[in-house]
Amino acid sequence: MPSREPDDPRTAIVAAMRELISLGLSQGTSGNVSIRHGDGFLVTPSGIPADALHPQDIVPMSMDGTHDHPLAPSSEWRFHRDILARRPEIGAVVHAHPTYCTAFAICGREIPAVHYMIAMAGGPTIRCAPYAAFGTEALSRAALAALEDRTCCLLANHGMIATGPDLPKALWLALEVETLCRQYAIALQVGAPVVLPDDEIGRMIERFKSYGPRKKPREGS
Ligand code: 13P
Ligand code: ZN
Repeated sequence: MPSREPDDPRTAIVAAMRELISLGLSQGTSGNVSIRHGDGFLVTPSGIPADALHPQDIVPMSMDGTHDHPLAPSSEWRFHRDILARRPEIGAVVHAHPTYCTAFAICGREIPAVHYMIAMAGGPTIRCAPYAAFGTEALSRAALAALEDRTCCLLANHGMIATGPDLPKALWLALEVETLCRQYAIALQVGAPVVLPDDEIGRMIERFKSYGPRKKPREGS
């Protein structure tokens, strides 16, 4: 029986693209996903809606930006490649145009520390990269700068990027960032949001390192 192994990361990317739609983070052909794969990476093809996407449509690319696949890779392959090349701790990149992230990005506004969950961004702000046309090297440069010491960023007049050590974590972060932007947008209408000090976010980053379910140490160990 042929091994299903080589198909699995492609299947996971298709599932992630569909999840972006079902979570309300994406629509139509907006957004794209990549994961590190061997010496290169796998990226979604350009312009195919998630419900029409098949695992064999996922484009394997080399780090030099070449590929040998009948479909064109995402127009944003450059920032996917550049993020994976420059940030060895990142294994997956998710790009989408979620409504609240994009509303702040349209205003060119970064997200301040209005909730301790901003610690998941790796620092006290989620930066907004200055505008550059989609698919350009300029956009990739702007995204990399906005991602310095961060796991996510907004892209002015465009959308957002969330990264993670693997695809489930990058997808989780994409939803968290959109949730934070939604909360901040509503808070701005309710009153004057209180921004937490930088040192508190530093403490929250430390605190998150031991957050989550832990197995009890075994008796006698
Ligand atoms: P692709 O379909 O080429 O991935 O483009 C979608 C997008 O979001 C461009 O920024
Ligand atoms: Zn986009």
